[in-house]
Amino acid sequence: MEPPNLNNDDFIYCKYTSDGQYTVSFAYKALITEQAIIDANVPTRFWRQLLKLKLHPCRKLFIWKLMHNALPTKELLLNKGLQLSPQCVLCKRHPETADHMFRHSEVAQLIWKTGDLGLHPSMNQHIALQRWVPDYISCLQKNDRHRYEFSSTVFYSTLWAIWLARNDIEFRKMNVTPHQILNLITWRTINGWMEKARIDDMVGS
Ligand SMILES: [Zn+2]
Repeated sequence: MEPPNLNNDDFIYCKYTSDGQYTVSFAYKALITEQAIIDANVPTRFWRQLLKLKLHPCRKLFIWKLMHNALPTKELLLNKGLQLSPQCVLCKRHPETADHMFRHSEVAQLIWKTGDLGLHPSMNQHIALQRWVPDYISCLQKNDRHRYEFSSTVFYSTLWAIWLARNDIEFRKMNVTPHQILNLITWRTINGWMEKARIDDMVGS
C-alpha cells in the first residue's frame, strides 16, 4: 500500500456516484433501475434475483439496507454515538443487533419455525446474517425451484414483518405478539402482495 501524498483528512465517499455522495434516493434508484451494487461479499446473482422478485421497492430497499448493515438498529445507532438503551424491544433481555433481532431472539426463532418455511435459524449460528440470507435464498432456488418466487417472498417478508413489529413496539409503544407478526406473512397475504406487485408492473409498463 502506498502512503497518501496529500495532507487531507480521511473522508467517506460512495464510489458508485459521480460526486461521491451517498443518498437514500441513489440506493433506491439503483435497486429499481437494476443497477445493482455489486458487493464483494454477496454474489451478484443474489441481487439479480432480488430485483426480479415481485416485491415492493420499499421491501427491496429494506433488504439492501439489511445486507449492508445499514438498518438503524440500536447497535448501529450506539456505534454512531447516540445515547439510548441498547435493549432489544422484542425480548427486553439482550442487546439489539440485527443478528439477534432477525435470527436469534426467541420471537424470531418462533416466527421462523412456525411460519410457512418452517426454518430453524439457530442452525449455522456462526454464519453472519449477511451471509445467511443469500445462502438461504440460494438453497431455496436449488431445492424449491417450483415455489422459489413464493418461498423467497415469504423469506424476505418475514424479515420485513419482524422489523415492522420492532418499530411498532419501539416508536408506537404497541404490544405486538408473535401471532400478529405471523398473520402479516400468511400464504394469503403474500399472494395478495405478489398479485398487487404484478398489477403495479402491468400498469407501470
Ligand atoms: Zn431480543
